[in-house]
Amino acid sequence: MTVPPPFLDRSFLPYGRQTVDDGDVAAVVAVLRGDFLTTGPEVDAYEAAFAEAVDAPHAVACSSGTAGLHLAMLALGIGPGDVVITPTVTFLASANCAAYVGAEVAFADVDPATGLMRVADAEAAAGRAGRDRVTAIVAVHLNGHCTDVAGLAAAFPGVPIVEDACHALGGSVGGGSVGGGSVGGGSVGGGRVGNTLVGACPDSAMAMFSTHPVKTVATGEGGVLTTRDAELDRRLRVLRNHGIERDPSRFTETERAFDAEGRPNPWYYEMPAPGFNYRLSDIHAALGRAQIAKLRHFVEVRRHLRARYVERLRALGPHVRPLPTAPGCDPAWHLSVALIDFAALGIERAAVMHRLKERGIGTQVHYVPVHGQPYFKALHPGLHLPGAEAYYARCLSLPLFPAMGEADVDRVVAALAEVLGVG
Ligand SMILES: *Cc1c(COP(=O)(O)O)cnc(C)c1O
Repeated sequence: MTVPPPFLDRSFLPYGRQTVDDGDVAAVVAVLRGDFLTTGPEVDAYEAAFAEAVDAPHAVACSSGTAGLHLAMLALGIGPGDVVITPTVTFLASANCAAYVGAEVAFADVDPATGLMRVADAEAAAGRAGRDRVTAIVAVHLNGHCTDVAGLAAAFPGVPIVEDACHALGGSVGGGSVGGGSVGGGSVGGGRVGNTLVGACPDSAMAMFSTHPVKTVATGEGGVLTTRDAELDRRLRVLRNHGIERDPSRFTETERAFDAEGRPNPWYYEMPAPGFNYRLSDIHAALGRAQIAKLRHFVEVRRHLRARYVERLRALGPHVRPLPTAPGCDPAWHLSVALIDFAALGIERAAVMHRLKERGIGTQVHYVPVHGQPYFKALHPGLHLPGAEAYYARCLSLPLFPAMGEADVDRVVAALAEVLGVG
């Protein structure tokens, strides 16, 4: 199960790391020797491979996950006066995308056991903001775990859902034991038979993935949006390229657009509304295509390492717990989170992180609740989200990436036990 450790110095294990091999390097070098560094054939090939990998009809590559979320808001027409619900335990970008377009963010609380927004949390956030103002939901698959998109879709009919699937590439929802579990709040997968890959978007408008180096597939910077909706796919492509429209049937300035015979002028394009340069280069796309071909393998190794963590962490006593798995969810595991009762153990989380670092082990906290960031705190004074605070107080992300082996997991857990004085 273990892979040869590509370009890895094992003396320090970061919490996450890209897995780049000679094949990836060769793919990038081939682009550098070729004709197109951007807007070339590698982007199309990467998008096709990505769409296939997550079972979606459309995939649109862009320059980052954050750019992807911004494009999603623009393509859905979200703007001033609108309210976008997102869980507070997430990366900043899940909330910032709404702010970019002038919309209001309604922060939802999360399940303290999983860090995931439950349908009831979204309902409560909608209640605070005014339910009829809610025009989009950004649902976050924290740690790779399944957030209940089907349940959200049922509770908010007509409200488009954008899945922030940055942590969940390669994971799936559904199968035998769908729904009914206490963890995660219930109807994951909506009772559908068989597994649905995250990104296939059966209940959402779009799913957004990041290919930042700590994510499951790496391009340096990069993002991909997937959708089942051909019209959204079209809008996303126009918006990521300055708002440039090249479809002659959509031209409105006919005098300039067409020649005497009614043929479109070869230089001509139109901009109905400003977009952005959020394109992904062919250099990045080539790396992405080489990486996505290894997705199943990356996911398998992550699941294997996570299972080892679960087994080992269980021996550390009642104050240390691996993150539970929601029924009906088969996560690809972006992060390996331990939930640690630091207060009960009488040790500060910062001290634990410092001591682990001295032992060559990198850890991180995902995430500081976003509603507490100064910018959002000023907009939501007094907002208290107890589930998020409880999750935040206990979470610690331990090293997890495909170049690790079982011995690395054992080393991390042994060091954690020593530092915490447990097990
Ligand atoms: C990484 C990440 C993003 C942003 O992606 P970038 O590619 O870094 O812009 C957004 N949301 C979540 C949950 C992420 O983990």
